[in-house]
Amino acid sequence: MRLRLVADVIREMPSAAFITDAGQATGRPSILAANAAAIELTGYSFAEMEGKSPIMFSRETVDEEKLAAALAAFQAGEAHRSRTVQKRPDGALYYVDWSMTPVRNQAGEVDFFLWLQGDVSQRVEAEGMRDTLFEALDLAEDSVIISSDEGIEFVNRGFRRLSGLDEADVLGNEINALEMVPIDPRTLEPTDLVAPDTPRILIRGRSTAGASVYLDIATTVVVDKTTGARRLVHVGKDVTEDIMRRSEERARANRDPLTGLLNRRGGEAMLDAARAEAQARGGTFSVVMGDIDRFKSVNDRYGHPVGDAVLQAVASALEQNVRAESSVVRWGGEEFLVVLPAMALDTAVPLAERLRALVAEAETEPAGAVTISLGVAEWFPGEGLASVVSRADKALYSSKTHGRDRVTRAAPPHSPA
Ligand code: GH3
Ligand code: MG
Ligand code: MG
Repeated sequence: MRLRLVADVIREMPSAAFITDAGQATGRPSILAANAAAIELTGYSFAEMEGKSPIMFSRETVDEEKLAAALAAFQAGEAHRSRTVQKRPDGALYYVDWSMTPVRNQAGEVDFFLWLQGDVSQRVEAEGMRDTLFEALDLAEDSVIISSDEGIEFVNRGFRRLSGLDEADVLGNEINALEMVPIDPRTLEPTDLVAPDTPRILIRGRSTAGASVYLDIATTVVVDKTTGARRLVHVGKDVTEDIMRRSEERARANRDPLTGLLNRRGGEAMLDAARAEAQARGGTFSVVMGDIDRFKSVNDRYGHPVGDAVLQAVASALEQNVRAESSVVRWGGEEFLVVLPAMALDTAVPLAERLRALVAEAETEPAGAVTISLGVAEWFPGEGLASVVSRADKALYSSKTHGRDRVTRAAPPHSPA
């Protein structure tokens, strides 16, 4: 009677359900009734399962520990739930989350168990796929950061390797808290002009070893379809080698290959910088223009290669005798420009005199020593760069006409001289 009643209850249930006894005869459950959903899920007819234990649905290799726990609950007449891999008669495997619930009679004794099974194969597979993707993401060479409004939620191994930071240093922090400097991709110089929603950005960070690491970061917005949560995925490609190569090329483009000095293009950048600094501080700067005396005759007498060696000797005499913040530039064939940031004329003239004397002392075999003529000019506020260089050049010309191997101070701008 009671069995009929319980069996009627499960008949129309949409989820797989069956009834077993409470092990009265054998100490093990024995199937007494099953609904259509249970027959469909397991693939067995009721005739095939009647009188058997639900363990018949499991695949051959059962988890002994789980089985023992289930049996213990059964024998104690307690409810129990677990996840099991089951096997259909055709051999197909599937995952179920199942539960068994004791059904008690009026005396309070358990006389049946109600078993429910739900197919969770798709969920388990999706979780497996998610774990695989997660692992792939974690192992990726590129840096991956996932952030939300709550801050950084995930960083992968690539990020930790490239940034030298650990999960504990970054999780929950704002992405802006990372000490990463945005870099202008054209100049390779730090910039703070980054539009808030730039999809690609070049940044400079520091590796564990303390070296600069450049990352080209692409950011994508990912919206969770169910919860609507917005996340940003930042994938950073390590472009350090590329950037290093570009900055070397850039440096080479500013250098003269024969002497290793800055070339005219590099020199113009230094003039710009010296003027910017002078303007910012309300200061000044000076330039010295030098030209080797009678250099043509060196070439004529000893040949071009010897002339080249003389140029190199003069270049190094100049370079070695100015301070680090000053720049020596090969302005033209045998013309040199020295840019002296923050230096006034009264300091620049004696320096030029010292450089003149040092060049005159430097011997190059077989040409011997050469001399240079120099012109010195101090920049005046508001003056153009071409103007200050031209005044130094005119002063140099004056040194030439007054006997060479000498230093001449430039006239101030717009003076009749
Ligand atoms: P001045 O005292 O008036 O300056 O006489 P100068 O002979 O130095 O003047 P000029 O401008 O007539 O000659 C410069 C020479 O410098 C001509 C050119 O052949 C030589 N020169 C320019 N660049 C190089 C170079 O890279 N290597 C060599 N060997 N010679 C160079
Ligand atoms: Mg010359
Ligand atoms: Mg010349």
